[in-house]
Amino acid sequence: MGWCIDLVKQYLLYLFRWQLSTPILAGVLYFMKGFSVTASTIIANIIGGLIFFWVDRFIFTSPHLAPQWEIREEVKCADCGDIAKGFRLVRTRNYDRTRDKNPEFRCERCSQRKIQELKMRGVMVD
Ligand SMILES: [Zn+2]
Repeated sequence: MGWCIDLVKQYLLYLFRWQLSTPILAGVLYFMKGFSVTASTIIANIIGGLIFFWVDRFIFTSPHLAPQWEIREEVKCADCGDIAKGFRLVRTRNYDRTRDKNPEFRCERCSQRKIQELKMRGVMVD
């Protein structure tokens, strides 16, 4: 489902972002040849931290990347009343229930049906 794809996208972006720290580490190790590897790595990590704090913040808080689904274990389905793993669509490009005061969770089956209903109403889910 959508939430899974979002998480995979976020994960791949995060793995890619880790690779970006490689040239910083390599560069600092190169320019600090006279120093110990530990000292060089500490400096590299300070530089990396200064930069990647902002990159990570973006990865984990951007509305474009944040998972669109909220999932809770053992909740009562808003439609059929079953106690099951509950799904709730939080946000898409033209749908926003981020500040919903009474969020409704649905079991997987009812959630699928609800998605079809939302798509019929013009909500972009993918
Ligand atoms: Zn249900």
